[in-house]
Amino acid sequence: MVDNKRNKEVMMTDQLVDGYDAVVIGGGAAGLNGALMLARARRSVLVIDAGEPRNAPADGVHGLLAREGMPPAELLARGREEVRGYGGHLLSGTVVDATRDDSGFTVELADGRTVRARRLLVTTGLVDELPDIAGLRERWGRDVIHCPYCHGWEVRDQAIGILGSGPMSVHQALLFRQWSPDITFFAHTVTPTAEQAEQLAARGIPVVTGAVRALEIADDRVVGVRLEDGTVVPRTAVAVASRMVARAHFLAALDLKPVQHPSGMGEHIPADPTGRTDAPGIWVAGNVTDLSAQVGAAAAAGATAGAMINADLMTEETTAAVAAYQSARASARS
Ligand SMILES: Cc1cc2nc3c(=O)[nH]c(=O)nc-3n(C[C@H](O)[C@H](O)[C@H](O)COP(=O)(O)OP(=O)(O)OC[C@H]3O[C@@H](n4cnc5c(N)ncnc54)[C@H](O)[C@@H]3O)c2cc1C
Repeated sequence: MVDNKRNKEVMMTDQLVDGYDAVVIGGGAAGLNGALMLARARRSVLVIDAGEPRNAPADGVHGLLAREGMPPAELLARGREEVRGYGGHLLSGTVVDATRDDSGFTVELADGRTVRARRLLVTTGLVDELPDIAGLRERWGRDVIHCPYCHGWEVRDQAIGILGSGPMSVHQALLFRQWSPDITFFAHTVTPTAEQAEQLAARGIPVVTGAVRALEIADDRVVGVRLEDGTVVPRTAVAVASRMVARAHFLAALDLKPVQHPSGMGEHIPADPTGRTDAPGIWVAGNVTDLSAQVGAAAAAGATAGAMINADLMTEETTAAVAAYQSARASARS
């Protein structure tokens, strides 16, 4: 059994080689599935991972076929072993820079080490930026939640507060209503439009105006939401729509920067449906590009990107082989 809370301490110390067909930056669901595809395609592949998957605070992964409720760290530990089983390499570390030259990429880690790659798969996920409210961050992933598909079942029929803090907050309240009849919307920094106010009223969701100051905690549980005026509204779970920002600052030298997501939910690295970015040789998968991807979708996108990288390498190798073949035939004729 893997200790979920100690995922960050899992050390990966594979012996590195001089250059890889592909380096995968980020060893969550997306990165490991990408690496699995590449390793099974007999490509040399290295996964570099900082050990902080987004869902680390959660007890289990939900909504995932055949792995329902598995602790996140256990899922990833299995994935790492699968990658290793096909000869893939794993390295604990944080990538701080990546540059390009004529023959590929140089990836630099925070400890000064560098590795070379012909292609990059970036699967570094995102950061959930949370409103600055006392008690909120400490409860994140426990009884402060964001995604009804991840946690809704676990808080079904409870007294749930929705913190109005972003463009999706009213949508979030209407969604959570599917899991509980006792939903309260805390307007905080969001004033529902007339249409939204009508929707909330029609679904039996009261709106509490005024800023939220803190969460009330007792016996290691959320018990209420405290407003600036001191009023406490009893709640046993609070949902908040985080601002989701791709973890990709280290790509600046490659002209890949996170841009505003069309939904207004945060910033991502845009890519085509196969994960190919505008920067030649660089693919992305998972939350770094698809802010709403859950574990299954992130893993599937990683697998697709891995296969596309293999196909791209095959095309390059075939072109080189044809050139060498033609040259050899021309030499033989002369
Ligand atoms: C509290 C919570 C609960 C959730 N519960 C569920 C659930 O029940 N079911 C579900 O399907 N989804 C759930 N999710 C969503 C889930 O976390 C994501 O779908 C999933 O983590 C996306 O996988 P990923 O590989 O894109 O990113 P991540 O899992 O975040 O993995 C990215 C990896 O890249 C590493 N990394 C980042 N920067 C660098 C760098 N510079 N160098 C090296 N490595 C780096 C990180 O440390 C991390 O290990 C939950 C999310 C949260 C916040």
